[in-house]
Amino acid sequence: MTTDLIAIVGANMAGACAARALREEGFSGEIHLIGAEPHLPYERPPLSKELLLGTTDPVQIQIQSEQEWEQQQVTLRPSSTVVRIDRSSGELELADGGRARADKVLLCTGGRPRRLALAGAELDGVVHLRTLDDSLAIRERLRPGASVVVVGGGFIGTEVAASAVASGCAVTLLEADDVILWRALGRELGAVLQRYHVEQGVRVETRTSPERIGGSSTVTHVVTTRRERIDADLVVVGIGIVPAVDLAEDAGLEIANGIVVNEHCETSVEGIYAAGDVANHPNPFLGCRLRLEHWQNAQNQGIAAARSMLGARDGFREVPWFWSDQYDLNVQMSGHAQPTGTLVYRGNPSSSSFTAFYLSAGAIDGVVGINRPRDVRAVTRLIETRQIVDPAQLADESVDLRKVGS
Ligand code: NAP
Repeated sequence: MTTDLIAIVGANMAGACAARALREEGFSGEIHLIGAEPHLPYERPPLSKELLLGTTDPVQIQIQSEQEWEQQQVTLRPSSTVVRIDRSSGELELADGGRARADKVLLCTGGRPRRLALAGAELDGVVHLRTLDDSLAIRERLRPGASVVVVGGGFIGTEVAASAVASGCAVTLLEADDVILWRALGRELGAVLQRYHVEQGVRVETRTSPERIGGSSTVTHVVTTRRERIDADLVVVGIGIVPAVDLAEDAGLEIANGIVVNEHCETSVEGIYAAGDVANHPNPFLGCRLRLEHWQNAQNQGIAAARSMLGARDGFREVPWFWSDQYDLNVQMSGHAQPTGTLVYRGNPSSSSFTAFYLSAGAIDGVVGINRPRDVRAVTRLIETRQIVDPAQLADESVDLRKVGS
């Protein structure tokens, strides 16, 4: 069957990169990039950082301009929600009653913020941060002197806390576990970051969640599971996302923590692909399946899906990488933090510039650089190859990391 029209559901990083890659790889048919939001596709990382701080604006975070989309002959279909994939006719049904034909479909449906299921969670001023509009609404409320309660010490929570402190707000961060950022960075490094947040003025309350949120129509306070009442002009909830699998599930695709895909971004149904936050994919370097919610994964898996839809068989293979900016810290991580692994430091972990390596069986599983992006880049190849390394060399600042293991 020839492919004349590819529909991409989700006009986000993964979807936009896939659309662009289809053209770059020589696809000459129609490309429809369908998204529920009214905006041109934009970058999400600035939403919790530069956009909140007002150092960038919505136009600057566009992935590319409207003119560029036109030049590439990508049909953008904003404010359009696909509600069903009709596998018998090969058509997509839209919420407004319209239909769209597609020879192949790429699902980049991402995720939706998890909601707090408790009294007061629907009050005005209790917000989530996922979209450009969410970010602009939060920015309006980050006024000097405002009391902000952040629920969740993951990346949304910690980045918003840092932006709120920089905006002059009084910030309390509630984290259900006993340390922030532990899932991504591991407990020891999570504790390092936690200390930094406290030094910057955030009140961090661990093993604590909101029990009730109070106010008449607008939020005024949060009552915690420790029975404390905290004044709040704004409550930002960052307790993770739920992969948006409804469409895929309805179409009969295999689902397990997201849409299950193989290394070619193919789902269990021929002609339907998935990429980005929603795709549960195999990672050959880490030897496990993963569903990643980071920018680089969205970008490169989107590109890999486009190539795969055009017949390439090289597959998506990548050591996971992400970054976060909080205060004057640039945090980068490659690979993953193995909870049972040994941690080796290069530099002083009490300072604002050091690198930490996660080792198991003599090889590096993951590396975290605090204001040390070059170390992270240098070590990624060692994670890919699982070379046995000498921990003393990793720890020795005088040893060039690019030469370790070679
Ligand atoms: P997240 O990273 O999964 O963190 C959620 C945090 O909230 C966890 O620490 C969780 O604790 C805690 N939590 C859950 N329920 C809670 C409750 N009732 N009370 C208090 N704390 C609670 O999710 P996120 O921060 O919302 O971010 C969403 C996704 O976007 C994540 O995958 C994130 O990695 C991604 N993102 C990435 C970046 C970046 O790459 N720089 C920036 C922003 C967002 P437990 O872990 O103990 O459940």
